[in-house]
Amino acid sequence: MSPFLLCRRHAFLRLPRQSHALSTLSLTARVDVPTLGEIDIPTGLHINGQWIAGRGEAFSTVNPATGDKLVDVAHASAEDVDDAVKAARHAFKTTWGMNVAATERARLINRLADLLERDAHRIAAVESLNGGKGIRIAREADVADSVACLRYYAGMADKIHGQTTDAFGGDKLALTLHQPIGVCGQIIPWNYPLQMWAWKVAPALAAGCTVVMKPSELTPLTALMMNALASEAELPAGVLNTVPGLGKSTGDAIARHMDIDKVAFTGSVPTGKRISIAAAESNLKKVTLELGGKSPMLVFASADTDEAAQWTANGIWYNSGQDCCASSRIYVQANVFDRYVNQLRKRALTVAIGAPSDERTSFGPLISEGQRDKVLGYITSAKEEGARLVSGGRAWPRSKGFYVEPTILANSANKDLRAAREEIFGPVVVVTPFRDEEHALELANDSPYGLAAAVFTSDTRQAIRVARGLDAGSVWINQYGAVHNNVPFGGFKQSGIGRELGTYGLEGYLQVKAVHLNLGVEASWPI
Ligand code: NAD
Repeated sequence: MSPFLLCRRHAFLRLPRQSHALSTLSLTARVDVPTLGEIDIPTGLHINGQWIAGRGEAFSTVNPATGDKLVDVAHASAEDVDDAVKAARHAFKTTWGMNVAATERARLINRLADLLERDAHRIAAVESLNGGKGIRIAREADVADSVACLRYYAGMADKIHGQTTDAFGGDKLALTLHQPIGVCGQIIPWNYPLQMWAWKVAPALAAGCTVVMKPSELTPLTALMMNALASEAELPAGVLNTVPGLGKSTGDAIARHMDIDKVAFTGSVPTGKRISIAAAESNLKKVTLELGGKSPMLVFASADTDEAAQWTANGIWYNSGQDCCASSRIYVQANVFDRYVNQLRKRALTVAIGAPSDERTSFGPLISEGQRDKVLGYITSAKEEGARLVSGGRAWPRSKGFYVEPTILANSANKDLRAAREEIFGPVVVVTPFRDEEHALELANDSPYGLAAAVFTSDTRQAIRVARGLDAGSVWINQYGAVHNNVPFGGFKQSGIGRELGTYGLEGYLQVKAVHLNLGVEASWPI
């Protein structure tokens, strides 16, 4: 290894000056990362600018492409969460929040983006190893989009402003201040560990909030690496704290904490409900939720069905189907149904399934053994309930990792098919025929979810009419899955509360204060 690389490796981690560690867990682990070789990865908690070992019992994270253990990671107990909240509160009152110029927040967030860009290969390799996604996609999508997200919100930090109103007239004036909410707990899932981190942390820091971040126990590594980069960027201690741990312990401690002002969550609907209850039962902290989906795509006979099949393939097999807005329910006009299914089947057979470390791989394993078995269970039950298996349907036989083949199920009439109603969160798409526009909308909206939807048609009026009629936070017309930092993302119905990205995402970390000025001397209504 060249001295330069050695030097970079040591520069990467800021080791603690002191530690209030109660356990013997090492604060870093040496991991053999494909394409990088052995590197040191932080495995402790990061609280108040220090790496410490948690008071909870350490947990293991696994390589989903092999099933082998990667490393043990520290587990934040409720007391550790409390320490993190105290650090975040102190930072909010002293070195962040309204005590620092917005331009300075912007500068530091931009610096963090620069460091992520510098370490793109390293972070992408770990993201790919821990989460199972193809390394090219981890680098060119997940890391690149996270850099862009940090820069987008860095640019917004000094563009936060309220309104002035002279509604009262005379000597009276009112104005609004948009102020940071305060200390934010952030709880994220495993399917896009780095991107979900960026979607949460970037707007929170730009708004002036401080953060206690809990990554998923299945994919904690890149969030910890990002906290190391935040220290290198010289973000003040306590502004960003990372507390890995399990949902029922660390996550619940965040949701119930009496001094957290807001919790922002991405994950499943049942967990979102639990977090809402915990928030209500504690200090009624503000809650935003990005939850699951069962997103429908409507393909009308006038559409280019081959093109629609390509968008479906991208929508359902990207990230191996572990995507909250995966195109998992396809409704196709009956007279083009068979043609479309054949076109989609051709795509299923050519998906680039392989090892995450291979640049050619676009389809990797599912995150865990449990997730793989859950997905296979849905395929079995769908066949028992009358669906026809068109393609795939098995664990991929060429690996001992948690792969499931790209799978298509054709459903003729069963409105209650579980695989067509419940979120599978795997590479399984159910295709069902419809008669006409009214029938298509009825089928699409018959769901407790409302995250995303799409319509394919060559009739512009129909496209707009159907887009208006779909119950979904995002609707795509003749395309699928476009997401941009400048466009809000979030759900109708049980798919969530609030929006991420765009100016809407920033608003989720601000609260509005009305300030009334009396510039005169007389009381309005003397008593
Ligand atoms: P999950 O709900 O099991 O876990 C998500 C996070 O919540 C993890 O960090 C977990 O540790 C934590 N958690 C679990 N129980 C908790 C509790 N009682 N209190 C506090 N925190 C708790 O979800 P998952 O399996 O990690 O992710 C998959 C789900 O996330 C899918 O349903 C998917 O649709 C959804 N998702 C939604 C979006 C979106 O933007 N809408 C994005 C990605 C994933």
